[in-house]
Amino acid sequence: MVKQAKCVFCGGDVEPGTGLMYVMNDGTILWFCSNKCFNNYRMKRDPRKYKWTLKYGQQTK
Ligand SMILES: [Zn+2]
Repeated sequence: MVKQAKCVFCGGDVEPGTGLMYVMNDGTILWFCSNKCFNNYRMKRDPRKYKWTLKYGQQTK
């Protein structure tokens, strides 16, 4: 059984068979639901500042 992946950027579900898997140099695997999220992540944008993400408005811990 495959664990449901969550998009690292927007926090949404990554449907099996879709999305992007990105492996960092240290072996950490990151999932993105779309190129849009991947590009925003690479630009080091904060998802809490974008209304289209599920993380919008969340507090920084
Ligand atoms: Zn996403």
